[in-house]
Amino acid sequence: MTLPPDAGAPASHVDLHAHSTASDGAMAPAAAVQAAHAAGLAAFALTDHDTLAGIPEAQATADALGLRLVPGVELSVHRGSEEVHVLGLHIRDVDALQARLETFRGFRRTRAEQMVTKLNGAGVPVTFDAVLEQAAGGAIGRPHVARALVAGGWVKDLREAFDRWLGAGKPAYVDKERLDIADGIAMIHEAGGIAVYAHPGSEGRRETIEPLVAVGLDGIEVRHPSHSREDELRLASLAAFFGLVVSGGSDWHGAMQGGRVLGAMQVPASWLELQDRRVRERRGQGA
Ligand code: MN
Ligand code: MN
Ligand code: MN
Repeated sequence: MTLPPDAGAPASHVDLHAHSTASDGAMAPAAAVQAAHAAGLAAFALTDHDTLAGIPEAQATADALGLRLVPGVELSVHRGSEEVHVLGLHIRDVDALQARLETFRGFRRTRAEQMVTKLNGAGVPVTFDAVLEQAAGGAIGRPHVARALVAGGWVKDLREAFDRWLGAGKPAYVDKERLDIADGIAMIHEAGGIAVYAHPGSEGRRETIEPLVAVGLDGIEVRHPSHSREDELRLASLAAFFGLVVSGGSDWHGAMQGGRVLGAMQVPASWLELQDRRVRERRGQGA
């Protein structure tokens, strides 16, 4: 099985993986769309990490320029204990999906607060401020709660903090909220989009992709700067085997030169047409 043909003309290329300042890219959404237009792309997907906050601005700019914007997101999800990335492309209900992602992030932010609440309920008067102090402005985690317990003299060391209070199954334990890959795919479908396994690389094998197909995976990102030619060919044949669409992009973060420049992956517009068909099929199912 070979990939759909590449028509060749520059205007028939698309780039379906890029980041803006809404996540870790260097350019604002509007500037990113302008760069895509300047690069002569026929379509461009903005796929910021775990947020669609840049989509409205990108959409307005794309409309003004007459460039097709594919509203997207790159979700960090879990497959067992391993983190993998899934692209949600062709998102229709941008606001609804964004609201769900914000709720989810909010939960993660308050995990330490919930631990403090449980400790207080168990008679340990540690404060959230004491935990923040231990985190010293960094991302707050369970180790900071543990250190605050030591600093306050409620336990003698970190080991006791975990053994007595914070370890799994202990009185102040709060489960870490993780977005399972199946739930991530379902969220993408509920928002009218299709789910694409992002840059699987050498992890993209029949035995890893089959379980994802079972939970509704629509496509595989076969063309990506991290992929070898061999990866691309293997992933394309797996996509064909499982009846999945193919996707590709530069994973652009704002670089103006090098391997991750917008459009560098030369993704044919015909791939996007196959995705459009898949989107219509998905939505037709009332998914
Ligand atoms: Mn990134
Ligand atoms: Mn990624
Ligand atoms: Mn990315």
